[in-house]
Amino acid sequence: MSGTDLLRAAGLRVTRPRLAVLDVLQDGGHLEVDEIATLVRGRLDSVSTQAVYDVLGALSRAGLARRIEPAGSPALYEARAGDNHHHVVCRGCGTIADVDCVLGEAPCLDPDNARGFEVDEAEVTFWGLCPTCQALRAVDA
Ligand SMILES: [Zn+2]
Ligand SMILES: [Zn+2]
Ligand SMILES: [Zn+2]
Repeated sequence: MSGTDLLRAAGLRVTRPRLAVLDVLQDGGHLEVDEIATLVRGRLDSVSTQAVYDVLGALSRAGLARRIEPAGSPALYEARAGDNHHHVVCRGCGTIADVDCVLGEAPCLDPDNARGFEVDEAEVTFWGLCPTCQALRAVDA
């Protein structure tokens, strides 16, 4: 689906900043707001960082973007939303990769005793060492 169609299907007005941010996110990965703003400015003449924040908020609320914030990392945005996938983060370099959710729906983990809470999400982050850092560790040893 084109960005225009995605925005319309989500009930959002189609604007050039929204299209540009969506386009940047759809190139993939997990991007900081500053990185998104820089890439958007490469497509549009001038867009304020605040405008980028506003667009990201609208896209997130509409389910077209997802915001993640692993411990020690700034907020990151991605276009892969709605599939409840998880993330694996490298303790060495901070690289983040997607990990499919076995169930694909939140919450994919049920606590034995939720203390009366109605649970709608389990935030799962896996931590470890990426292949590059594993190789570096082998050299150091
Ligand atoms: Zn690493
Ligand atoms: Zn992701
Ligand atoms: Zn899961």
